[in-house]
Amino acid sequence: MAAPLDLRSDTVTRPSPAMRRAMAEAEVGDDVYGEDPTVNRLQDLAARKLGKEAALFVPSGSMANLVALLVHTGRQGEAICEAECHSYVYEQGGAASVAGVQMRPLAGKAGVLTAEQVRAALRGDDAHEPRTSLVMLENTHNRHGGAPLTRDQTRAVAEVAHERGIPLHVDGARIFNAAVALRTPASELVRDADSVSFCLSKGLGCPVGSLVCGSRAFIAEAHRARKLLGGGMRQAGVLAAPGILALDTMVDRLALDHENAALFAEAVQRAGLRLVHPVRTNIVVFEAPRAPELVASLRKEGVLLALRNDGFLRAVTHCDVDRGQAEEAGKAFVRLAKAA
Ligand SMILES: *Cc1c(COP(=O)(O)O)cnc(C)c1O
Repeated sequence: MAAPLDLRSDTVTRPSPAMRRAMAEAEVGDDVYGEDPTVNRLQDLAARKLGKEAALFVPSGSMANLVALLVHTGRQGEAICEAECHSYVYEQGGAASVAGVQMRPLAGKAGVLTAEQVRAALRGDDAHEPRTSLVMLENTHNRHGGAPLTRDQTRAVAEVAHERGIPLHVDGARIFNAAVALRTPASELVRDADSVSFCLSKGLGCPVGSLVCGSRAFIAEAHRARKLLGGGMRQAGVLAAPGILALDTMVDRLALDHENAALFAEAVQRAGLRLVHPVRTNIVVFEAPRAPELVASLRKEGVLLALRNDGFLRAVTHCDVDRGQAEEAGKAFVRLAKAA
């Protein structure tokens, strides 16, 4: 294999020639003043796609989640989340250290938090306890092998939270993968959420950026929170331009990534290894004896996989991997895994 085939993450993609052209030609202004026309167009488009009133462009998915935590919770209380969610596991404990919120991780079934679980975890009126100030869901669930949440699953949790006046935030870093896998518009999947964040820099192939979407009032506060976090950007239209292109042209093709993930998952099974989760979108998580050695030998053959902190291996498909490459990677995998 010539260039390495990088399956560590869907963040490793390079901007396409069309994206680079869009960046070069982007009309720009000072976005901290709200005067970058390209950022404004991206934000309007994102809000429309997610069915929310407004959206805000931020540098990363982590910042998008942190902005949501800051705005919804006002540095108080407790946020209920799934125990393996990105915000709890991979964001430097920003909820606690920056937003001043205690996370309340609950272990979901296959990454899914049920309404009953959330109801049982809501705090009462006891002055000893923190107040429940937010519920967070993740769609698709990264550590649970890209499991998509249905609209009904989200709505059931939203109803329980809303009965008590508690907002729901959806970390939808890969919400369009969920939308494609479930054949349901993203706006439907998050209809019952008060806010949703998603990444342009994952399966959509952009170099940088995420959006957080919600009501106009929420986004007005989110703008302040972004400033607080140092996330105000100036002529950010050069970064927003590929985002517009991605929302227009990169969503439907995610189905190909899902097919390629399924192909690679078949190879994993042909090699006699166990998938940790059913493969529904673009993430394949599996178990292998001597996982570090297998990663090293595949690297020599030009196939890069990720070794997770729990010892499981991960392969993620994306727009820089075509079907032929996924098949080739699968063949190399079977050969080396059987030899290991
Ligand atoms: C990648 C990811 C994020 C954060 O994205 P960054 O842009 O890397 O900060 C948030 N949530 C989930 C589920 C993710 O997979």
